[in-house]
Amino acid sequence: MRKQLSASLMALFSMEALFAQETTADNSVNWHVQPLMQLEKAKHYTPNHAEAKNVILMIGDGMSIGTITASRIYAGQLEGKKGEEHRLYMENLPHVAISKTYSADMQTVDSAAAATAIMTGQKTNNGVLGVSDKVALNNCQSALRNELSTIFEIAAEEGLSVGVVTTTRLTHATPAATYAHSANRNWESIANMPKSALNKGCIDIARQLIEFDYGSGIQVALGGGKSKFTLKQSGGERDDEDLILSWQKRYPNGTFVENKKALLEVDAASTDRLFGLFSDSHMPYVLDKSEMQNVPSLAEMTQKAIAVLSKNPRGYILMVEGGRIDHAHHANLAKKALAETVEFDNAIQAANKVADMDNTLLIVTSDHSQALTLSGYAKRGTPIVGLSDEKDQNGNSYTTLAYTTGPGTGNTLSGELTIDEISDKDYSQKANIPRASGTHSGEDVVISATGASASLFQGFVDDTYTFYAINEALGFRQQEHITTMH
Ligand SMILES: [Zn+2]
Repeated sequence: MRKQLSASLMALFSMEALFAQETTADNSVNWHVQPLMQLEKAKHYTPNHAEAKNVILMIGDGMSIGTITASRIYAGQLEGKKGEEHRLYMENLPHVAISKTYSADMQTVDSAAAATAIMTGQKTNNGVLGVSDKVALNNCQSALRNELSTIFEIAAEEGLSVGVVTTTRLTHATPAATYAHSANRNWESIANMPKSALNKGCIDIARQLIEFDYGSGIQVALGGGKSKFTLKQSGGERDDEDLILSWQKRYPNGTFVENKKALLEVDAASTDRLFGLFSDSHMPYVLDKSEMQNVPSLAEMTQKAIAVLSKNPRGYILMVEGGRIDHAHHANLAKKALAETVEFDNAIQAANKVADMDNTLLIVTSDHSQALTLSGYAKRGTPIVGLSDEKDQNGNSYTTLAYTTGPGTGNTLSGELTIDEISDKDYSQKANIPRASGTHSGEDVVISATGASASLFQGFVDDTYTFYAINEALGFRQQEHITTMH
């Protein structure tokens, strides 16, 4: 019976013809196509345990599974499809694991503890960065005694080039977890630190980026947050010194850029060190197009970073963060969160295109979930950022996308807003529980991987697993990194 079924299906569809038949002229879906193609892949699957020379770790901040689903529909609808059947680029990555994200002290993790888990292999307390769970928030002395080695420090010491790319401030929690150690993630510049912590010898996160002295230092750092590096008299926050000038003194051959044109003009072949700050704080949302004119896309930053880093014959490790998915969610701005996810997806595709995937491990994950839900029984193809075609029990309209927590509580939809207003990029989706800022949520997130050693990613794992998998993929000796290094 099984054989007959398979034989008859294969007679109907040769694999080459399947792609062409996926949708028919009347835009209906041929339901055999996707599963049969994936079945073929699974049948011919061979594990990939090749040693990796390079690692690209891409983190969609707050990119919950619900965010991936909604963004897939959003991207499909932008292409004129119904949307649900669309596939994001990241869905092509063949290896998938599920990541458990709780922190050492909370059910729901923040980005600092989450990124620390990924970068150091140890769960820690919410709010602290690159230090162990012995450290209470704001305890500078304890933080100085309990620093954890990050995979970036380890890789740099092993001779790899290291790079950090983000759409947030470079000093924000996720990128900072690659290079910094702090009793408080908010100590981004000296102006954000209490005097007592400065007196005890704790150093602000921006300075830690400039003074990162493992291996050859950080070769590529691209993102926002210029104000954390510059002096008050030039529009920044600092009263000690201009850290861009300090960086230029430290690395006289380095290239500093602050707009899209300058970044695109960087000759990667002759540039060994690249520092880019494209906005005072976080980089703009991609849907705020007027603000995006002089700002590079995440894909452009990613490709330039890979071009500069990949010249090192020993290899490189690069972290790329789609950081503003999370910020949009915090403000209940679902459309912006979906657009940021598509931007992140474009960067994954760009990385996969330019990296040498024979010896590169590409990992895509998220640091934590977000309280976005996709609810109700809207018909196929209903605009994902608009109203559901269903009504609630009082006959009122509602949106398919909503939040459990956040500032959108006050929104009513019953005839007060036009569909254009509800579909606007700055429309705040309705939330259940009032909070000035929406919260993360504690569900698991996806890790997907492709390339060298990608087979290491399977099953349900803790977020800390990624650290050990990267060490394994790069051929580093695990035991040396299991205890606190500093
Ligand atoms: Zn967040």
